Amino acid sequence: MDMSAKIGERPEPIRRLTKIYAALLIAAFALSPAVLIAYLYFFQDPALKFENHLFHEIAIAAATLEGLFVTYVSWRCYLSSGEPLLRWLTLGFFGFTLIYALHGAFTGMAHHNIWLFLLYGPASRLAMAILLLIGLLSFNQESDTPEQRPNPRSWLQWIAVFLLVDIAVAIVAYSAIAGNPAVRLTMEGGALFFSAVNLLIMLAGRIRSPLMTIFGISIALFGLSSLAFILGRPWNHMWWLAHAIFAGGFFFLSYGIIQAFHTTRSFANVYNQEEMVNRLAMAMVRTENALQELKHSNQKLEHLASTDPLTGAANRRHFIERVDAEIARAKRDNLSFALLALDLDNFKAINDHYGHQTGDEVLQGFVQKCLEEIRPYDVVARMGGEEFMVLLPQATLELAVTIGERIRSGTENAVFDSIVMPKVILTVSIGVSQFGRDGSTIDTIFRAADERLYRAKDQGRNCVITV
Ligand code: GH3
Ligand code: MG
Ligand code: MG
Repeated sequence: MDMSAKIGERPEPIRRLTKIYAALLIAAFALSPAVLIAYLYFFQDPALKFENHLFHEIAIAAATLEGLFVTYVSWRCYLSSGEPLLRWLTLGFFGFTLIYALHGAFTGMAHHNIWLFLLYGPASRLAMAILLLIGLLSFNQESDTPEQRPNPRSWLQWIAVFLLVDIAVAIVAYSAIAGNPAVRLTMEGGALFFSAVNLLIMLAGRIRSPLMTIFGISIALFGLSSLAFILGRPWNHMWWLAHAIFAGGFFFLSYGIIQAFHTTRSFANVYNQEEMVNRLAMAMVRTENALQELKHSNQKLEHLASTDPLTGAANRRHFIERVDAEIARAKRDNLSFALLALDLDNFKAINDHYGHQTGDEVLQGFVQKCLEEIRPYDVVARMGGEEFMVLLPQATLELAVTIGERIRSGTENAVFDSIVMPKVILTVSIGVSQFGRDGSTIDTIFRAADERLYRAKDQGRNCVITV
Protein backbone atom coordinates (compact mmCIF):
# COMPACT_ATOMS: atom_id res chain seq x y z
CA MET A 1 0.00 0.00 0.00
CA ASP A 2 1.42 3.36 -0.97
CA MET A 3 0.41 6.02 1.51
CA SER A 4 1.60 8.84 -0.72
CA ALA A 5 -1.00 7.84 -3.29
CA LYS A 6 -3.66 8.28 -0.63
CA ILE A 7 -2.51 11.63 0.65
CA GLY A 8 -3.71 13.79 -2.19
CA GLU A 9 -1.98 17.02 -1.23
CA ARG A 10 1.52 15.54 -1.66
CA PRO A 11 2.03 15.28 -5.39
CA GLU A 12 4.79 13.21 -6.98
CA PRO A 13 7.28 15.93 -8.11
CA ILE A 14 7.66 17.52 -4.67
CA ARG A 15 8.07 14.04 -3.26
CA ARG A 16 10.91 13.27 -5.64
CA LEU A 17 12.46 16.68 -5.04
CA THR A 18 12.44 16.24 -1.26
CA LYS A 19 14.04 12.83 -1.65
CA ILE A 20 16.83 14.27 -3.77
CA TYR A 21 17.25 17.08 -1.27
CA ALA A 22 17.51 14.57 1.59
CA ALA A 23 20.12 12.56 -0.33
CA LEU A 24 22.13 15.74 -0.96
CA LEU A 25 21.94 16.67 2.71
CA ILE A 26 23.29 13.27 3.70
CA ALA A 27 26.12 13.56 1.17
CA ALA A 28 26.93 17.09 2.40
CA PHE A 29 26.96 15.89 5.97
CA ALA A 30 29.19 12.90 5.15
CA LEU A 31 31.67 15.08 3.26
CA SER A 32 31.60 18.14 5.55
CA PRO A 33 35.03 17.37 7.14
CA ALA A 34 36.51 17.86 3.69
CA VAL A 35 35.99 21.60 4.24
CA LEU A 36 38.10 21.50 7.38
CA ILE A 37 40.78 19.42 5.67
CA ALA A 38 40.90 21.92 2.80
CA TYR A 39 41.01 24.81 5.22
CA LEU A 40 44.01 23.43 7.10
CA TYR A 41 45.67 22.29 3.90
CA PHE A 42 45.47 25.69 2.20
CA PHE A 43 45.56 28.17 5.08
CA GLN A 44 47.44 26.58 7.93
CA ASP A 45 51.17 26.24 8.43
CA PRO A 46 51.83 22.48 8.52
CA ALA A 47 54.79 23.09 10.78
CA LEU A 48 52.54 24.21 13.64
CA LYS A 49 52.41 21.43 16.20
CA PHE A 50 50.63 20.55 19.37
CA GLU A 51 52.68 17.78 20.93
CA ASN A 52 51.08 16.79 24.17
CA HIS A 53 51.65 13.18 25.11
CA LEU A 54 49.30 13.05 28.06
CA PHE A 55 46.44 14.50 26.04
CA HIS A 56 47.10 11.94 23.32
CA GLU A 57 47.24 9.09 25.83
CA ILE A 58 43.99 10.12 27.46
CA ALA A 59 42.28 10.49 24.07
CA ILE A 60 43.42 7.03 22.91
CA ALA A 61 42.49 5.49 26.27
CA ALA A 62 38.99 6.94 25.90
CA ALA A 63 38.82 5.64 22.33
CA THR A 64 39.89 2.19 23.52
CA LEU A 65 37.22 2.08 26.22
CA GLU A 66 34.59 3.25 23.77
CA GLY A 67 35.82 0.73 21.21
CA LEU A 68 35.40 -2.09 23.72
CA PHE A 69 31.95 -0.88 24.67
CA VAL A 70 30.79 -0.64 21.06
CA THR A 71 32.35 -4.03 20.33
CA TYR A 72 30.34 -5.51 23.17
CA VAL A 73 27.04 -3.93 22.06
CA SER A 74 27.62 -5.06 18.45
CA TRP A 75 28.38 -8.54 19.70
CA ARG A 76 25.14 -8.59 21.68
CA CYS A 77 23.25 -7.49 18.56
CA TYR A 78 24.98 -10.22 16.58
CA LEU A 79 24.15 -12.89 19.19
CA SER A 80 20.53 -11.86 18.96
CA SER A 81 20.06 -11.51 15.18
CA GLY A 82 22.99 -13.56 13.81
CA GLU A 83 23.32 -11.01 11.03
CA PRO A 84 26.72 -11.50 9.30
CA LEU A 85 27.15 -7.74 8.90
CA LEU A 86 27.03 -7.44 12.69
CA ARG A 87 29.64 -10.19 13.07
CA TRP A 88 31.98 -8.21 10.83
CA LEU A 89 31.15 -4.96 12.58
CA THR A 90 31.96 -6.59 15.91
CA LEU A 91 35.25 -7.86 14.51
CA GLY A 92 35.95 -4.49 12.89
CA PHE A 93 35.50 -2.63 16.18
CA PHE A 94 37.37 -5.24 18.16
CA GLY A 95 40.27 -5.44 15.72
CA PHE A 96 40.49 -1.66 15.56
CA THR A 97 40.48 -1.41 19.35
CA LEU A 98 43.12 -4.11 19.90
CA ILE A 99 45.50 -2.55 17.37
CA TYR A 100 44.76 1.11 18.02
CA ALA A 101 45.26 0.74 21.78
CA LEU A 102 49.00 0.22 21.15
CA HIS A 103 49.12 3.52 19.26
CA GLY A 104 48.16 5.15 22.54
CA ALA A 105 50.28 2.86 24.69
CA PHE A 106 53.40 3.70 22.71
CA THR A 107 52.88 7.48 22.80
CA GLY A 108 55.89 7.72 25.05
CA MET A 109 58.00 5.92 22.42
CA ALA A 110 57.42 8.79 19.97
CA HIS A 111 60.99 9.98 20.46
CA HIS A 112 62.64 6.54 20.72
CA ASN A 113 60.99 4.76 17.79
CA ILE A 114 58.48 7.05 16.10
CA TRP A 115 57.26 4.17 13.89
CA LEU A 116 56.31 1.98 16.80
CA PHE A 117 54.12 4.87 17.88
CA LEU A 118 52.82 5.91 14.47
CA LEU A 119 52.16 2.73 12.52
CA TYR A 120 49.53 1.27 14.83
CA GLY A 121 47.20 4.10 13.77
CA PRO A 122 47.06 3.32 10.02
CA ALA A 123 47.25 -0.43 10.76
CA SER A 124 44.13 -0.24 12.94
CA ARG A 125 42.24 1.83 10.37
CA LEU A 126 43.27 -0.48 7.54
CA ALA A 127 42.13 -3.55 9.49
CA MET A 128 38.81 -1.93 10.30
CA ALA A 129 38.23 -0.71 6.72
CA ILE A 130 38.82 -4.24 5.39
CA LEU A 131 36.52 -5.84 7.98
CA LEU A 132 33.77 -3.27 7.35
CA LEU A 133 34.03 -3.88 3.62
CA ILE A 134 33.65 -7.62 4.15
CA GLY A 135 30.72 -6.74 6.40
CA LEU A 136 29.04 -4.75 3.66
CA LEU A 137 29.56 -7.59 1.20
CA SER A 138 27.77 -9.90 3.62
CA PHE A 139 24.84 -7.50 3.99
CA ASN A 140 21.50 -9.27 3.58
CA GLN A 141 23.16 -12.69 3.73
CA GLU A 142 21.39 -15.37 5.68
CA SER A 143 21.74 -15.17 9.46
CA ASP A 144 24.17 -17.42 11.31
CA THR A 145 22.45 -20.13 13.33
CA PRO A 146 22.12 -19.53 17.09
CA GLU A 147 24.68 -22.32 17.70
CA GLN A 148 27.24 -20.71 15.37
CA ARG A 149 27.01 -17.27 16.95
CA PRO A 150 28.78 -17.64 20.32
CA ASN A 151 31.29 -20.28 19.08
CA PRO A 152 34.42 -19.25 21.02
CA ARG A 153 36.84 -20.85 18.56
CA SER A 154 36.17 -18.49 15.68
CA TRP A 155 36.27 -15.47 17.99
CA LEU A 156 39.57 -16.60 19.54
CA GLN A 157 41.01 -17.13 16.08
CA TRP A 158 40.23 -13.55 15.21
CA ILE A 159 41.74 -12.27 18.45
CA ALA A 160 44.89 -14.24 17.51
CA VAL A 161 44.89 -12.57 14.09
CA PHE A 162 44.65 -9.11 15.67
CA LEU A 163 47.48 -9.89 18.10
CA LEU A 164 49.58 -11.15 15.18
CA VAL A 165 48.96 -7.84 13.42
CA ASP A 166 50.17 -6.09 16.58
CA ILE A 167 53.36 -8.17 16.52
CA ALA A 168 53.81 -7.70 12.77
CA VAL A 169 53.53 -3.91 13.14
CA ALA A 170 56.15 -3.98 15.90
CA ILE A 171 58.48 -6.05 13.70
CA VAL A 172 58.01 -3.62 10.81
CA ALA A 173 58.57 -0.67 13.16
CA TYR A 174 61.96 -2.06 14.16
CA SER A 175 62.94 -3.09 10.64
CA ALA A 176 64.85 -1.10 8.08
CA ILE A 177 61.80 -0.44 5.91
CA ALA A 178 59.93 1.40 8.68
CA GLY A 179 61.40 4.71 7.69
CA ASN A 180 60.19 4.38 4.13
CA PRO A 181 57.18 6.72 3.81
CA ALA A 182 55.60 4.15 1.50
CA VAL A 183 54.90 1.89 4.49
CA ARG A 184 52.66 4.35 6.26
CA LEU A 185 51.22 5.63 3.02
CA THR A 186 50.32 2.12 1.87
CA MET A 187 48.43 1.35 5.06
CA GLU A 188 46.66 4.70 5.30
CA GLY A 189 46.02 4.73 1.55
CA GLY A 190 44.71 1.18 1.81
CA ALA A 191 42.26 2.27 4.51
CA LEU A 192 41.16 5.17 2.29
CA PHE A 193 40.84 2.86 -0.71
CA PHE A 194 38.74 0.24 1.08
CA SER A 195 36.48 2.93 2.54
CA ALA A 196 35.97 4.38 -0.93
CA VAL A 197 35.18 0.93 -2.37
CA ASN A 198 32.76 0.37 0.48
CA LEU A 199 30.95 3.61 -0.28
CA LEU A 200 30.81 2.94 -4.02
CA ILE A 201 29.30 -0.48 -3.46
CA MET A 202 26.68 1.05 -1.17
CA LEU A 203 25.81 3.71 -3.73
CA ALA A 204 25.72 1.24 -6.62
CA GLY A 205 23.67 -1.25 -4.63
CA ARG A 206 21.24 1.50 -3.55
CA ILE A 207 21.46 0.38 0.04
CA ARG A 208 19.27 2.97 1.76
CA SER A 209 17.96 1.72 5.08
CA PRO A 210 18.39 4.27 7.90
CA LEU A 211 21.04 2.24 9.70
CA MET A 212 22.96 1.61 6.50
CA THR A 213 22.85 5.36 5.83
CA ILE A 214 24.56 5.86 9.18
CA PHE A 215 27.01 3.10 8.23
CA GLY A 216 27.77 4.85 4.92
CA ILE A 217 28.27 8.28 6.50
CA SER A 218 30.66 6.74 9.04
CA ILE A 219 32.63 5.03 6.27
CA ALA A 220 32.89 8.38 4.47
CA LEU A 221 34.25 9.96 7.67
CA PHE A 222 36.77 7.12 8.10
CA GLY A 223 37.95 7.64 4.52
CA LEU A 224 38.29 11.40 5.05
CA SER A 225 40.21 10.84 8.27
CA SER A 226 42.66 8.62 6.38
CA LEU A 227 43.02 11.39 3.82
CA ALA A 228 43.76 13.88 6.61
CA PHE A 229 46.31 11.47 8.15
CA ILE A 230 48.04 11.21 4.75
CA LEU A 231 48.15 15.00 4.46
CA GLY A 232 49.19 15.54 8.08
CA ARG A 233 52.40 15.10 9.98
CA PRO A 234 52.73 13.79 13.51
CA TRP A 235 51.36 16.30 16.08
CA ASN A 236 50.41 18.99 13.56
CA HIS A 237 46.88 20.32 13.25
CA MET A 238 45.95 18.21 10.24
CA TRP A 239 47.04 15.15 12.21
CA TRP A 240 44.84 16.09 15.15
CA LEU A 241 41.95 16.93 12.83
CA ALA A 242 42.33 13.46 11.32
CA HIS A 243 41.87 11.98 14.80
CA ALA A 244 38.77 14.08 15.34
CA ILE A 245 37.21 13.10 12.01
CA PHE A 246 37.84 9.46 12.73
CA ALA A 247 36.31 9.85 16.19
CA GLY A 248 33.26 11.48 14.58
CA GLY A 249 32.80 8.50 12.28
CA PHE A 250 33.25 6.11 15.14
CA PHE A 251 30.73 7.93 17.32
CA PHE A 252 28.20 8.01 14.53
CA LEU A 253 28.56 4.33 13.67
CA SER A 254 28.27 3.45 17.35
CA TYR A 255 25.05 5.48 17.40
CA GLY A 256 23.75 3.19 14.64
CA ILE A 257 24.76 0.15 16.68
CA ILE A 258 22.85 1.49 19.68
CA GLN A 259 19.80 2.08 17.46
CA ALA A 260 20.01 -1.51 16.28
CA PHE A 261 20.41 -2.71 19.85
CA HIS A 262 17.30 -0.89 20.95
CA THR A 263 15.18 -2.07 18.01
CA THR A 264 15.63 -5.23 15.94
CA ARG A 265 19.32 -5.85 16.74
CA SER A 266 19.91 -6.12 13.04
CA PHE A 267 20.93 -3.63 10.39
CA ALA A 268 18.82 -5.06 7.59
CA ASN A 269 15.50 -5.15 9.44
CA VAL A 270 15.18 -1.62 10.71
CA TYR A 271 12.67 0.04 8.45
CA ASN A 272 12.65 3.59 7.31
CA GLN A 273 9.96 5.87 8.65
CA GLU A 274 7.87 5.70 5.48
CA GLU A 275 7.77 1.93 5.62
CA MET A 276 7.00 2.04 9.34
CA VAL A 277 4.06 4.37 8.77
CA ASN A 278 2.77 2.04 6.04
CA ARG A 279 3.20 -1.03 8.18
CA LEU A 280 1.47 0.67 11.06
CA ALA A 281 -1.44 1.67 8.83
CA MET A 282 -1.76 -1.90 7.57
CA ALA A 283 -1.59 -3.29 11.09
CA MET A 284 -4.34 -0.90 12.15
CA VAL A 285 -6.54 -1.99 9.24
CA ARG A 286 -5.98 -5.62 10.20
CA THR A 287 -6.82 -4.88 13.83
CA GLU A 288 -9.97 -3.05 12.82
CA ASN A 289 -11.04 -5.97 10.61
CA ALA A 290 -10.33 -8.45 13.37
CA LEU A 291 -12.40 -6.35 15.78
CA GLN A 292 -15.30 -6.27 13.33
CA GLU A 293 -15.10 -10.03 12.88
CA LEU A 294 -15.02 -10.51 16.62
CA LYS A 295 -18.03 -8.25 17.05
CA HIS A 296 -19.83 -10.18 14.35
CA SER A 297 -19.09 -13.58 15.86
CA ASN A 298 -20.03 -12.28 19.30
CA GLN A 299 -23.39 -11.20 17.91
CA LYS A 300 -23.78 -14.64 16.33
CA LEU A 301 -22.93 -16.32 19.62
CA GLU A 302 -25.34 -14.10 21.48
CA HIS A 303 -28.06 -14.99 19.00
CA LEU A 304 -27.27 -18.69 19.31
CA ALA A 305 -27.34 -18.50 23.08
CA SER A 306 -30.74 -16.84 23.13
CA THR A 307 -32.68 -18.75 20.46
CA ASP A 308 -34.27 -22.14 20.10
CA PRO A 309 -32.39 -23.95 17.33
CA LEU A 310 -35.44 -25.72 15.85
CA THR A 311 -37.84 -22.82 15.45
CA GLY A 312 -35.67 -19.71 15.76
CA ALA A 313 -37.95 -18.42 18.52
CA ALA A 314 -36.41 -17.02 21.70
CA ASN A 315 -35.45 -19.70 24.22
CA ARG A 316 -36.74 -19.93 27.77
CA ARG A 317 -33.66 -18.25 29.31
CA HIS A 318 -33.80 -15.27 26.97
CA PHE A 319 -37.57 -14.93 27.38
CA ILE A 320 -37.28 -14.74 31.16
CA GLU A 321 -34.62 -12.05 30.77
CA ARG A 322 -36.93 -10.07 28.52
CA VAL A 323 -39.88 -10.39 30.90
CA ASP A 324 -37.68 -9.32 33.82
CA ALA A 325 -36.61 -6.26 31.87
CA GLU A 326 -40.23 -5.55 30.97
CA ILE A 327 -41.28 -5.79 34.61
CA ALA A 328 -38.56 -3.27 35.55
CA ARG A 329 -39.69 -0.95 32.80
CA ALA A 330 -43.36 -1.32 33.66
CA LYS A 331 -42.64 -0.51 37.31
CA ARG A 332 -40.46 2.46 36.46
CA ASP A 333 -42.79 4.00 33.86
CA ASN A 334 -46.01 2.80 35.43
CA LEU A 335 -46.93 0.84 32.32
CA SER A 336 -48.50 -2.53 31.78
CA PHE A 337 -47.82 -5.50 29.56
CA ALA A 338 -49.39 -8.87 28.85
CA LEU A 339 -48.30 -12.48 28.43
CA LEU A 340 -49.73 -15.31 26.36
CA ALA A 341 -49.13 -18.93 27.32
CA LEU A 342 -49.70 -21.19 24.30
CA ASP A 343 -49.87 -24.98 23.99
CA LEU A 344 -50.59 -26.81 20.76
CA ASP A 345 -53.65 -29.01 20.95
CA ASN A 346 -53.33 -32.76 20.62
CA PHE A 347 -49.89 -32.41 19.31
CA LYS A 348 -49.05 -35.93 20.27
CA ALA A 349 -51.60 -37.06 17.67
CA ILE A 350 -49.82 -35.08 14.94
CA ASN A 351 -46.58 -36.82 15.81
CA ASP A 352 -48.33 -40.16 15.87
CA HIS A 353 -50.02 -39.67 12.50
CA TYR A 354 -47.40 -37.89 10.47
CA GLY A 355 -44.18 -38.65 12.26
CA HIS A 356 -41.82 -36.65 14.39
CA GLN A 357 -40.24 -34.93 11.37
CA THR A 358 -43.58 -33.47 10.31
CA GLY A 359 -44.21 -32.52 13.94
CA ASP A 360 -40.98 -30.49 13.87
CA GLU A 361 -42.03 -28.72 10.70
CA VAL A 362 -45.37 -27.89 12.24
CA LEU A 363 -43.59 -26.35 15.23
CA GLN A 364 -41.52 -24.21 12.85
CA GLY A 365 -44.62 -23.23 10.87
CA PHE A 366 -46.45 -22.31 14.04
CA VAL A 367 -43.68 -19.94 15.12
CA GLN A 368 -43.78 -18.29 11.68
CA LYS A 369 -47.54 -17.89 12.08
CA CYS A 370 -47.09 -16.24 15.48
CA LEU A 371 -44.49 -13.84 14.07
CA GLU A 372 -46.97 -12.82 11.38
CA GLU A 373 -49.67 -12.07 13.90
CA ILE A 374 -47.72 -10.17 16.56
CA ARG A 375 -46.21 -6.67 16.54
CA PRO A 376 -42.50 -6.20 15.67
CA TYR A 377 -41.45 -5.62 19.27
CA ASP A 378 -43.35 -8.55 20.75
CA VAL A 379 -41.35 -11.65 21.67
CA VAL A 380 -42.20 -15.27 20.89
CA ALA A 381 -40.40 -17.94 22.90
CA ARG A 382 -40.43 -21.71 22.87
CA MET A 383 -40.59 -22.69 26.51
CA GLY A 384 -40.22 -26.42 25.76
CA GLY A 385 -41.87 -29.12 23.65
CA GLU A 386 -44.94 -27.62 22.02
CA GLU A 387 -45.37 -24.93 24.63
CA PHE A 388 -44.77 -21.28 23.79
CA MET A 389 -45.11 -17.86 25.36
CA VAL A 390 -45.53 -14.41 23.88
CA LEU A 391 -44.55 -11.17 25.58
CA LEU A 392 -46.66 -8.17 24.57
CA PRO A 393 -45.06 -4.97 25.89
CA GLN A 394 -47.40 -2.10 26.72
CA ALA A 395 -50.44 -4.19 25.74
CA THR A 396 -53.82 -3.83 27.42
CA LEU A 397 -55.85 -6.94 28.16
CA GLU A 398 -58.06 -6.24 25.16
CA LEU A 399 -55.11 -5.95 22.83
CA ALA A 400 -53.63 -9.13 24.27
CA VAL A 401 -56.87 -10.97 23.60
CA THR A 402 -57.01 -9.56 20.09
CA ILE A 403 -53.50 -10.72 19.33
CA GLY A 404 -54.19 -14.10 21.01
CA GLU A 405 -57.28 -14.50 18.87
CA ARG A 406 -55.32 -13.63 15.74
CA ILE A 407 -52.79 -16.35 16.55
CA ARG A 408 -55.50 -18.84 17.40
CA SER A 409 -57.54 -18.32 14.24
CA GLY A 410 -54.45 -17.96 12.09
CA THR A 411 -53.23 -21.34 13.34
CA GLU A 412 -56.59 -22.96 12.83
CA ASN A 413 -56.78 -21.80 9.24
CA ALA A 414 -53.16 -22.33 8.41
CA VAL A 415 -51.94 -24.73 5.77
CA PHE A 416 -48.41 -25.56 6.74
CA ASP A 417 -46.38 -25.44 3.54
CA SER A 418 -44.05 -28.30 4.09
CA ILE A 419 -46.73 -30.82 4.81
CA VAL A 420 -48.06 -32.46 1.71
CA MET A 421 -50.94 -34.82 2.33
CA PRO A 422 -53.30 -34.87 4.13
CA LYS A 423 -53.84 -31.40 5.56
CA VAL A 424 -52.81 -31.18 9.19
CA ILE A 425 -55.44 -29.67 11.41
CA LEU A 426 -53.66 -27.72 14.11
CA THR A 427 -55.20 -25.67 16.87
CA VAL A 428 -53.76 -23.87 19.85
CA SER A 429 -55.01 -23.06 23.33
CA ILE A 430 -54.01 -19.76 24.86
CA GLY A 431 -54.02 -18.34 28.40
CA VAL A 432 -53.63 -14.56 28.91
CA SER A 433 -52.26 -12.73 31.94
CA GLN A 434 -51.55 -9.10 32.55
CA PHE A 435 -48.91 -7.42 34.63
CA GLY A 436 -50.57 -5.52 37.47
CA ARG A 437 -53.92 -7.17 37.28
CA ASP A 438 -52.51 -10.66 37.86
CA GLY A 439 -49.55 -9.70 40.02
CA SER A 440 -46.28 -7.91 39.67
CA THR A 441 -43.72 -10.75 39.81
CA ILE A 442 -42.66 -13.09 37.07
CA ASP A 443 -43.96 -16.09 39.04
CA THR A 444 -47.46 -14.73 39.54
CA ILE A 445 -48.02 -13.59 35.97
CA PHE A 446 -46.57 -16.83 34.53
CA ARG A 447 -48.76 -18.89 36.85
CA ALA A 448 -51.87 -16.87 35.93
CA ALA A 449 -51.23 -17.42 32.21
CA ASP A 450 -50.59 -21.17 32.77
CA GLU A 451 -53.74 -21.63 34.82
CA ARG A 452 -55.81 -20.01 32.08
CA LEU A 453 -54.10 -22.18 29.49
CA TYR A 454 -55.20 -25.30 31.38
CA ARG A 455 -58.65 -23.82 31.66
CA ALA A 456 -58.63 -23.37 27.87
CA LYS A 457 -57.76 -27.06 27.52
CA ASP A 458 -60.55 -27.96 29.92
CA GLN A 459 -63.00 -25.87 27.97
CA GLY A 460 -62.38 -27.84 24.81
CA ARG A 461 -59.15 -26.32 23.45
CA ASN A 462 -58.71 -23.89 20.50
CA CYS A 463 -59.67 -20.85 22.58
CA VAL A 464 -58.23 -17.80 24.35
CA ILE A 465 -58.92 -17.49 28.11
CA THR A 466 -58.37 -14.36 30.19
CA VAL A 467 -59.85 -15.23 33.59
P1 GH3 B 1 -52.84 -31.26 24.71
O1 GH3 B 1 -53.82 -30.76 23.72
O2 GH3 B 1 -53.43 -31.71 25.96
O3 GH3 B 1 -51.72 -30.35 24.90
O4 GH3 B 1 -52.26 -32.57 24.03
P2 GH3 B 1 -50.84 -32.80 23.54
O5 GH3 B 1 -50.77 -34.09 22.82
O6 GH3 B 1 -50.34 -31.64 22.79
O7 GH3 B 1 -50.09 -32.84 24.90
P3 GH3 B 1 -48.85 -33.61 25.45
O8 GH3 B 1 -48.11 -32.69 26.37
O9 GH3 B 1 -49.32 -34.89 26.05
O10 GH3 B 1 -47.96 -33.95 24.25
C1 GH3 B 1 -47.02 -33.06 23.73
C2 GH3 B 1 -46.29 -33.75 22.64
O11 GH3 B 1 -45.43 -32.90 21.96
C3 GH3 B 1 -45.50 -34.90 23.12
C4 GH3 B 1 -44.21 -34.85 22.35
O12 GH3 B 1 -43.97 -36.00 21.58
C5 GH3 B 1 -44.41 -33.70 21.42
N1 GH3 B 1 -43.19 -32.94 21.29
C6 GH3 B 1 -42.53 -32.28 22.26
N2 GH3 B 1 -41.42 -31.70 21.74
C7 GH3 B 1 -41.39 -32.01 20.42
C8 GH3 B 1 -40.50 -31.72 19.34
O13 GH3 B 1 -39.48 -31.03 19.52
N3 GH3 B 1 -40.80 -32.22 18.10
C9 GH3 B 1 -41.90 -32.96 17.89
N4 GH3 B 1 -42.16 -33.43 16.65
N5 GH3 B 1 -42.73 -33.26 18.88
C10 GH3 B 1 -42.51 -32.80 20.13
MG1 MG C 1 -47.95 -29.66 26.23
MG1 MG D 1 -50.26 -29.80 23.72
